[in-house]
Amino acid sequence: AKADGGDDFRYYREGAEERAREFVSKTSEIRAGIRRREFAPYFQPIVDAVTGSVEKFEVLARWKHPTRGVLGPAEFIGVAERSGLIGDLSHILLEEAAREMSGLCDRVQRRLVITFNLSARQLRQEMIANHLLQVVIDNGLAANQVVFEITESTIMDDPPTTRRILEELRGYGFRILLDDFGTGYSSLNYLRRLPVDGLKIDRSFVARVADDVTDAAIVKAILAVARELRLRVVAEGIEEEQQAECLRRYGCDQLQGFLFAKPMPGEELEHYLTETAER
Ligand code: C2E
Ligand code: CA
Ligand code: CA
Ligand code: CA
Repeated sequence: AKADGGDDFRYYREGAEERAREFVSKTSEIRAGIRRREFAPYFQPIVDAVTGSVEKFEVLARWKHPTRGVLGPAEFIGVAERSGLIGDLSHILLEEAAREMSGLCDRVQRRLVITFNLSARQLRQEMIANHLLQVVIDNGLAANQVVFEITESTIMDDPPTTRRILEELRGYGFRILLDDFGTGYSSLNYLRRLPVDGLKIDRSFVARVADDVTDAAIVKAILAVARELRLRVVAEGIEEEQQAECLRRYGCDQLQGFLFAKPMPGEELEHYLTETAER
């Protein structure tokens, strides 16, 4: 780059224009995908740490793209949030997830639960709680069969509104889980102030819980606080048996990760449940 920075500026500007163009085209592609209902829920089992039984599934968004195959959230959630399409996208996902799960409950004669990720924008929307309740009930689930996962970044912007919405949601019988716990700046502070029922220990701590004394200490401390506050704890991103063993030993309630199962489409859930019941 030249000393006067002229080239740097041009590079920067071209980069910015390029990114802006990409954002606009991605946005219209997502809008079309929503219209064509190409977005679908995948489900990842959450396993009871002690009994190994499964009653909960996290809903994870996938895009059945007409030419590029099945795409993960990294390809579209960020743009959907920034362009304001996340509400419509999330609506389709929740509708579909509730419909599939209520069908499954009927077939296997069990009361199953979904956990569903909400983004910051949704938790600032007036009437969102009522809207979510309507979608869930219209598609055959009860509010107490749905847990909403929120992250610290979701709540950072606007705590008073968010608090009110979370309280409304809980009033309807939904539960709230604080996701990616431990990765933010003031996780413990949020625990004290927000109406939540549980937390999910972030994958970054789980990764080395079996070989790193510091990470093990952090995980134990989180579990101790949670126990004191009577919060349910899920650990995510479990890939190895040693990690599961550690978390079980430390008193974690529920486990989730590739060790147990990868996220799968709704059609595979019944088969999965019968398989795991026989094990
Ligand atoms: P998250 O909520 O932390 O979800 C967990 C992510 O970890 C998922 O990635 C899941 O597939 C992955 N995962 C599960 N077990 C393991 C494991 O053992 N090892 C590893 N390496 N990864 C594992 P995915 O599906 O790509 O989702 C990424 C993120 O996208 C989610 O992170 C969540 O923040 C966001 N997301 C997904 N679906 C939705 C949605 O419907 N709405 C919103 N607002 N965000 C969503
Ligand atoms: Ca989550
Ligand atoms: Ca998470
Ligand atoms: Ca995460």
